Amino acid sequence: MASNGPLILCDNLVKIYKVQDLEVVALQGLDLVVERGEFMGIVGPSGSGKSTLMNILGGLDVPSAGKAIVDGQDLLKLSPAGLTRYRRHKVGFVWQQPSRNLIPYLNVQENVDLPIIVGGGMSPSERSAWTRELLEAVGLYDRRHHTLHQLSGGEQQRTAISVALANKPVLLLADEPTGEVDTVTAQGILDTLRHLNKTYQLTIVTVTHDPRVSDQVDRVVGIRDGKTSSERVRRVQGELGQPAETDRDAPEQAADSAGQPKQGQVTYHEYVVLDSAGRLQLPREYLEELGISGRAQVEMTEKGILVVPARHQELGANNVNYADVAESWGPQKRSRGHNLGRRVKSVLGKRAARRSGDEDRSESAPKGRA
Ligand code: ADP
Ligand code: MG
Repeated sequence: MASNGPLILCDNLVKIYKVQDLEVVALQGLDLVVERGEFMGIVGPSGSGKSTLMNILGGLDVPSAGKAIVDGQDLLKLSPAGLTRYRRHKVGFVWQQPSRNLIPYLNVQENVDLPIIVGGGMSPSERSAWTRELLEAVGLYDRRHHTLHQLSGGEQQRTAISVALANKPVLLLADEPTGEVDTVTAQGILDTLRHLNKTYQLTIVTVTHDPRVSDQVDRVVGIRDGKTSSERVRRVQGELGQPAETDRDAPEQAADSAGQPKQGQVTYHEYVVLDSAGRLQLPREYLEELGISGRAQVEMTEKGILVVPARHQELGANNVNYADVAESWGPQKRSRGHNLGRRVKSVLGKRAARRSGDEDRSESAPKGRA
């Protein structure tokens, strides 16, 4: 069992779902590294591929291509039996609905006992000591004889977390674990996750749409269109393993008036992610503000790389935004009269109208994709 290096390594991960004749590319070359002991959040719009990634890391789904290695095990190469062992011992999974982890007619203790008995890796006395420790860690030991309908939503989710951790996995995956509960309950669930992360150096990856989560976790990775696009890293000044601040890496928040973060102070750093081919996604707001779409110019400057709107946008069909053309092809049936030249002209015509300011307000906003 490999115990060095990052716990999770995804390299150019691709997942394509085939539904009848249609192909949905849920992950399109996603790269991700998660260190051991990290508590990480994943955010992104609906349909961006977050659950697909979690299901692959959880051994519940198989990637179409690329690499997904967890604790030294290549998930693309595991046999069905190997995958079952992986799901049982390496990884724990928590869903939005705690009921997916729980059997309603068993009590809390029995729900946690069950996967340990099935896993077969502990003697009865080991099991008893471990479930006690685990239920104390999630604050449910005195509720161990309660059945599920006697528990609140937050208590059910904390039971589900205990069930996920019953066989001492190295990785806990949670897909929107606070998606169905109120703010106070959500905070309790996050506190529990943070406590487990600190106590057992447990690596946790949680999907969330809850903006407060980004203040709880070490790092938030943004996913867009099936690829990692941005990262927000939380640093506590002076914490072990945190590099000293430099000018280039200046904190964006919480610096004191002298500009230097104090010991113990929390700072956040925003990054865009480059993939292995050097591609990156620029923030959509910036692109819209500058009116960049289709093409841009990249210039080397003293401070770094500058991205500016392409000059000579008017030159003609060569500078057309291909996404706009594809969109205009979209719902209409192909017929003899529809050729690319015409489409391009109509898109260019629309653009000219936009520039001259008489744009129809109902027209969709420009696409901001790098
Ligand atoms: P998210 O969790 O970020 O909302 P998902 O990973 O669930 O996104 O989905 C990503 C894309 O893959 C979506 O377009 C979704 O419709 C599609 N998808 C997800 N699961 C399946 C599936 N089992 N079969 C077909 N398409 C799927
Ligand atoms: Mg999802």
